[in-house]
Amino acid sequence: MDNLKNLRGTVDLLPDQLIKWQNVEKIIFEQLSRASIKEIRTPILEMTELFIRGIGEGTDVVSKEMYTFLDRGDRSCTLRPEGTASVARALIQNGISSNPLHKLWYMGPMFRYERPQAGRQRQFHQLGVEFIGYDSVRSDVEIIAIAWDILGKLGIKDLNLEINTLGDVNDRLDFQKSFIKWLEINKKFLDIDSQNRINKNPLRILDSKNSETKKILENAPRLFNFLSEKSRKRYSDLKKQLEDLKIPYLENSNLVRGLDYYCHTAFEITSGALGSQATVCGGGRYDNLIKQMGGPNTPAIGFAIGLERLILLAGKELEVQRNTDIYIINQGLIAESLAMDLSRKLRNYDLFVELDLSGASLSKQFKKANKLKSKSIIVIGEDEASNKEFIIRLFDKSNDENKEEVISFDNNIKLENWINNNLLLK
Ligand code: ATP
Ligand code: MG
Repeated sequence: MDNLKNLRGTVDLLPDQLIKWQNVEKIIFEQLSRASIKEIRTPILEMTELFIRGIGEGTDVVSKEMYTFLDRGDRSCTLRPEGTASVARALIQNGISSNPLHKLWYMGPMFRYERPQAGRQRQFHQLGVEFIGYDSVRSDVEIIAIAWDILGKLGIKDLNLEINTLGDVNDRLDFQKSFIKWLEINKKFLDIDSQNRINKNPLRILDSKNSETKKILENAPRLFNFLSEKSRKRYSDLKKQLEDLKIPYLENSNLVRGLDYYCHTAFEITSGALGSQATVCGGGRYDNLIKQMGGPNTPAIGFAIGLERLILLAGKELEVQRNTDIYIINQGLIAESLAMDLSRKLRNYDLFVELDLSGASLSKQFKKANKLKSKSIIVIGEDEASNKEFIIRLFDKSNDENKEEVISFDNNIKLENWINNNLLLK
């Protein structure tokens, strides 16, 4: 039989790689907590209908990229391709109207059937942040600042924040009419994908990556020219507030989110270091989604960061793990049981303690401790075990003399002093 393999577009994250993931996640969690944003966890598997209604049939995600199947009860199920629809559903289902303001985040795997390449997988991970019930420009600014600061805290440089405004529903209806007219006239110059979108999702054509199409679009009607005074004012307020916060931005009038429920602010954060999969964060305001999904009229704005792309951008310093504080070398039956007991006691001091379970020779165990760069070791050989004591030795890089002490198993005070002076106060 052939060896079993993982599915194309999915990856195993191995312990060494996960050091960086965990460091990145820790910084993200801390930053989100500092901004009082609360976590929400929704199921990975949902009814297919949720995404058809919550993302839209005309989108690539729904029309081409979903992992959809019938379960044993003949229900159509889909592995979530994104998080916003599920968050909206969960809030509606759990009584959103009792508390209309929510600042939420989620993190986890998403699934899209796409062509795998660097920075693009079929199972990938997103961090999403959603502000539900907030309609002010200030909430747009705060959410952009949160995305920007997370990337900043991770030490990622050379990022571009691109912003655009989509206006409100009425602005867009006016634009859409004249845009579709223009598209029909210029249809033959557009790439096939864009031609197919004219009736399904015309706004998304603005986002085309095809260079010919991009060039022709330069002569198309401009959404901005159809915006009401109020929408324009909202956009200039947004820019002013970003400037006040010294968050640099670029305006990109082709940055769109193709669906009806998106409005006003759309933004992306990109990095040249990512090659063609340049977008690390995408976000926008979706004031009409919750209503469209059957909930009360609730404005909202959110973003999602692709974690694989974030990990590619985050620096090498995040690949380092805290060293083991104490490595316990032990040999002989009595020593093994004393060592087990001691390891549990030491972990109560918040120390990183590794108990050697190999049963190998003492010298092999020493080698392992060295390899791990453990800050200290405890040795319990047969002699120590019969004396009910252990040797604890600190490796001091600045000094060839390694500090060593013999402590008896019942002398907790001596042990505690040693830990405090040598491991915790460092
Ligand atoms: P793209 O244009 O790269 O396909 P998108 O518009 O489909 O992105 P969103 O749905 O806005 O992306 O998702 C937000 C972020 O999630 C993206 O900016 C990206 O960082 C990440 N992302 C999306 N799809 C994938 C994928 N297949 N593999 C890895 N990351 C992804
Ligand atoms: Mg995509």
